[in-house]
Amino acid sequence: MGSEIFNLTLADKLYRTKYETNTDHTHIKVNDEICPKCDGKPCTFGCPAEVYKKNPNDPNRITVSFENCLECGTCIKICPLGSIDWKFPDGGMGVKYRFG
Ligand code: SF4
Ligand code: SF4
Repeated sequence: MGSEIFNLTLADKLYRTKYETNTDHTHIKVNDEICPKCDGKPCTFGCPAEVYKKNPNDPNRITVSFENCLECGTCIKICPLGSIDWKFPDGGMGVKYRFG
């Protein structure tokens, strides 16, 4: 039963999560001076919502699609250089509830 979540695509998981997005204020920032020093860039494959991607204009840097964040906390633990500044979204914003 609970393992069904692992069979869902990212799009399915995001569809089942209701958000209130604060487009004026990101709750996630990365340090552009630190990320170029990170060889493995684990954030780009460890985040279940694919929030972090290599910047197509400069693959040493990272783009952050904060509005997709599922608030799981994984990225903070896997970032080896402490580059991620993550806060819970402002009150009333972020994940509201999940279906199933
Ligand atoms: S894992 Fe951390 S240091 Fe490495 S690229 Fe991602 S945010 Fe930057
Ligand atoms: S808290 Fe979870 S979903 Fe949000 S950016 Fe970090 S790893 Fe991705």
